[in-house]
Amino acid sequence: MSSRDRAKASGDLPIVIVGAGFAGIGMAIRLKQAGIHSFRIFERASEVGGTWRDNTYPGAACDVPSHVYSYSFEPNPDWSRFFSPAEEIQAYILRCVEKYGIRDHIEFGTEIADASFDERSASWTITTASGERHEARVVVSCTGGLVNPALPEIEGLEGYQGKLIHTARWDHGYDLRGKRVAVIGTGCSAIQVIPAIADDVASMSVFQRTPAWVMPKHDRLLSEKTRARFRRFPFLQRIMRTLLYLFSESLGPIIVLNSKRLSRIGERISLRHLEASVRDPELRKKLTPNFQFGCKRMLISDDYWPTLEREHVELVTEPIAAMTERGIRTSDGAEREFDAVIAATGFEVSFVKPAYPIRGLGGIDLHAHWQGAPEAYKGVSVAGFPNYFTIMGPNTGPGHTSVLVFTEAQIHYIMQAIQKLRREPIRYLTVKKEVQDRYNVRIQGRMKYTVWTSGCTSWYLGKNGRNSTLFPGFAGEYVLRTRRFKASEYDIAA
Ligand code: NAP
Repeated sequence: MSSRDRAKASGDLPIVIVGAGFAGIGMAIRLKQAGIHSFRIFERASEVGGTWRDNTYPGAACDVPSHVYSYSFEPNPDWSRFFSPAEEIQAYILRCVEKYGIRDHIEFGTEIADASFDERSASWTITTASGERHEARVVVSCTGGLVNPALPEIEGLEGYQGKLIHTARWDHGYDLRGKRVAVIGTGCSAIQVIPAIADDVASMSVFQRTPAWVMPKHDRLLSEKTRARFRRFPFLQRIMRTLLYLFSESLGPIIVLNSKRLSRIGERISLRHLEASVRDPELRKKLTPNFQFGCKRMLISDDYWPTLEREHVELVTEPIAAMTERGIRTSDGAEREFDAVIAATGFEVSFVKPAYPIRGLGGIDLHAHWQGAPEAYKGVSVAGFPNYFTIMGPNTGPGHTSVLVFTEAQIHYIMQAIQKLRREPIRYLTVKKEVQDRYNVRIQGRMKYTVWTSGCTSWYLGKNGRNSTLFPGFAGEYVLRTRRFKASEYDIAA
């Protein structure tokens, strides 16, 4: 019997998961482990993996150590490096999908156009872009925080006649060898792609708007001997994971708190790294950030800064004025011609904008309801949106550690809500507005103690200057807060 037939036969609570990235697959695995098969996953792409399916640019890797950037319940003793490349992470997700038999639950190529709650039937109607309708009692939205590429807002972009590539939509059919290339942006994606393509291109101009704090990476291969030890003694890997987690948590105050003294620790390490990486004092000056450490996402690389000193690579700090048919014009009037322009310019921030219209009690639309100030309870439940849960909802991004610690905490919390709905005669539950408000007043009140509000611009902050993306505390605190689902915090319709 297929898992779908088994779910039908069991008459269990129908659940829809939207998105088959790390979060959606993790949610599905936990449901299966709990003996719940009555779920379907809708995925708009043709394969699982989310971020790791989409980000295939040369050099793509995770700057969080792999032993913490993986599911706690599915350790992988075979990571080849301390910081694994994207394709290895994608292979890991694919292995999990096969091992736990998740593929059979996934409807690929299915984009959700609308999710609406009907109070009378206490169910969600999910409408796909092709007009199909599906009913579910529970919806778990796992659509990711940084998904849709954002092209830079530059005059003349559409008129550019060369090859334009966004890092998250790499065109592997385009050969960069011998090409004159521009890279716009100097964030996490840029600092990985720049060293990776430097050997191929004829010349490269890196357009920097804001220099970033870069920390040493110290990446290394994990030897076959180490991997064999992890395979033989799984507890060694658990110890490694715990130590890495504790180490990242210990860095939390330096990266997150708005304390000049603590920030200086990070700044000094980064400046020493700059000193060791770049000989030219003029270039060092251009690369020295003028904002407090941690305010924008800290970068980790050993080869980005040295690449900028190579003969055929230049750092352009003059602001971009416009794109022309052949290249880029900077505000000093200089025009450079390029065969290809790589936009390493990040993503639309979907922590704050639902991926599709979601209508809760009384037909209220979630995006309109948020009005630029997204709020949820623990980032997971929203008052007025019954039996609806989000992974990577508002204020659940980590500033300093593995996002998967948060993801798993959310899955654990949602699992408890689902179990309650299955076992008790409850039609729906929705978090109490006052509980949600109290939580968010506290979260926003704590933002003023974080470095994110120290004056720089970043994707962490909305246009209104509000931080609706990151959690202002230790991951451990978040894990504790989501450990127990308290029914008393929810309005329950029996
Ligand atoms: P990003 O951090 O948002 O960086 C975008 C870059 O483009 C910035 O340097 C930005 O400059 C620049 N930019 C944007 N518009 C521009 C314009 N019109 N002119 C000139 N420069 C412009 O994007 P990202 O590097 O793709 O990273 C996004 C997030 O994805 C990261 O913060 C991280 O959470 C995640 N990520 C993680 C990894 C990993 O290894 N774990 C790797 C890649 C990405 P300003 O700084 O001046 O705005």
